[in-house]
Amino acid sequence: MRAYYDLHIHSCLSPCGDSEMSPINIVNMAKLKKLDIIALTDHNSSKNCPAFLSAAKKAGIQAIPGMELCTAEECHVICLFPNLRAALEFDAVVEAALPDIQNRPEIFGEQVIVGADDSAIGVFPTLLTAATSIGIDEISGIVRSLGGIAFPAHIDRPSYSVISVLGTVPDARFSAFEVSGRGSVRTLPASYPILKGRPILLNSDAHRLEDISEPAGWIELDTLSPEGVISALLAGCAWGV
Ligand SMILES: [Zn+2]
Ligand SMILES: [Zn+2]
Repeated sequence: MRAYYDLHIHSCLSPCGDSEMSPINIVNMAKLKKLDIIALTDHNSSKNCPAFLSAAKKAGIQAIPGMELCTAEECHVICLFPNLRAALEFDAVVEAALPDIQNRPEIFGEQVIVGADDSAIGVFPTLLTAATSIGIDEISGIVRSLGGIAFPAHIDRPSYSVISVLGTVPDARFSAFEVSGRGSVRTLPASYPILKGRPILLNSDAHRLEDISEPAGWIELDTLSPEGVISALLAGCAWGV
């Protein structure tokens, strides 16, 4: 089946995420937009994934627990997991790899953890947008060992992207890539041959509800599920934007 996706969405746990980005609001907006499958990818944390998966189950939409990791080099990498257990195991690894910098909500924004009914159950004290100690060359191995997939985020952007930081698209066992603009799908493979033959995803990187994707980017799946997306992307599935 052709599945329309948005695999890069932030919740109110990301300091830059709008306070309206609660798990229930996110899944309802995704349903309204008629997306088939979505992922929650907060900066350096998966702590809102329990509430996200529970909201998605109630709403009847497929959902993938994930994270947008900031590597030691300051490259953003999207990490998707087959289940909550794997995502939370990775969350613990990343929490230990965060620098000890306290969040200052008045400057960076709140980092709100929510429960299954969307009510705030806590705030995460350590700043989530800083670079972790995890390197770009090791991230794929860690995520694969948990049954997930990692791919470089918004590689066509002027900041926090592999191209802007490293000057290239490293192999680093990446089997898919993300761009932020449709035009990059046509132009980038000419400059970076590593992209050829691998799925290129167009996600929203939404920090506000209205920015969640319309059904545009699709991937060909055997099974509409987190495992189905991970195995299809690893295998180089058919895709389009
Ligand atoms: Zn990013
Ligand atoms: Zn993002």
